[in-house]
Amino acid sequence: MIVKSLFIVVFLQALGLFAAAQAPNAPAPDFEVRKIAGGVYAVIRKEPPSLWFNPNTVFIVGKKWVTVVDANISSAYTKEVLAALRRITSKPVRYVVNTHWHEDHIIGDRVYRDAFPNVDFIAHKSTLADLPTVGAANRKSSVENGRGFVDFLKKSIAGGTNLAGQKITDEERAGYASDIRLVESYLAEAPDFEIVLPTITVDDRLELDDGRRKIEILFLGRAHTGADLVVYLPRENTVACGDLVVAPVPLVGSTAYPLEYAATLENLLKLKAATIIPGHGPVMTDTSYVRLMIRLLDSIKRQTEAAVARGENLEQMRKSVDLEEFRRAFAGDSQHRRFIFENYVFLPATAAAYRQLTEKTAPPAGK
Ligand SMILES: [Zn+2]
Repeated sequence: MIVKSLFIVVFLQALGLFAAAQAPNAPAPDFEVRKIAGGVYAVIRKEPPSLWFNPNTVFIVGKKWVTVVDANISSAYTKEVLAALRRITSKPVRYVVNTHWHEDHIIGDRVYRDAFPNVDFIAHKSTLADLPTVGAANRKSSVENGRGFVDFLKKSIAGGTNLAGQKITDEERAGYASDIRLVESYLAEAPDFEIVLPTITVDDRLELDDGRRKIEILFLGRAHTGADLVVYLPRENTVACGDLVVAPVPLVGSTAYPLEYAATLENLLKLKAATIIPGHGPVMTDTSYVRLMIRLLDSIKRQTEAAVARGENLEQMRKSVDLEEFRRAFAGDSQHRRFIFENYVFLPATAAAYRQLTEKTAPPAGK
């Protein structure tokens, strides 16, 4: 029961959130700024892998202005990231690309709006519809459940048990502590949330020229959500792919399209980018992780299709679908990562696949 209620909270979080005013003596921000190429920087988060997150950000510095890929889970975090940009350049931010509508990527948008009067927000066209609807519903749930989740995490740490009732590991302790910071900060900011809607929407493709390079903003297919954008820089041969790729454990999540996900990742690889900046996790300079994700998602597709063809319901499907090979590949022996895999891959992926498959095979509503 505990795990079930946690799961509800946890997958709401696929839409993430948080905040945290930086006190004068607060520790340095939890990210490092990595130069990818001339004028291209990745802000890589250092919070430990756990159940809530902050996304990586990308700065693309053009001749006169800057393009930013993704905001943060709160205004406070976004201000820290903007301060890092200011240390690189004084040029204004002209565009913010939100790779998708999940809240950890958009809550901080207002910081850019308030700082730069001419900024435009670019997102997939369905994000414009999703933000005030499904996005608002998720935000409401996250706010309502956040306090209970924090209390539960604190109790787990104090009692020496993890969320599944097992003996807690050091990795879990560190992860929960990070989650508590994220959620508490998020909740502190929640009464003031202001959601900025996209001012420019993308159907399949939008190309910008910032005077130094072409910036291709592409929709490669449904995957982590129905509206994932990637930002490809041909000159630098680099792609920022949002949560299409998340490491060390993928984030399929409850609003994913697992049956199409592998094909979308194949489209990502067709770009042949030498550098892949994931939505969460370290910068990648080879395709092995993405290929492992493709094998996982192919396996989910094949196994869930077979289960539905056999007439199984979701509960039966969850018994017959075997992802142990991938659980081992992504999580190894880590109790914490196995829990993340269960809650961000196995449970939501089977639910979403089941939904997609049964919607497809349902007889048309006849008249
Ligand atoms: Zn996401």
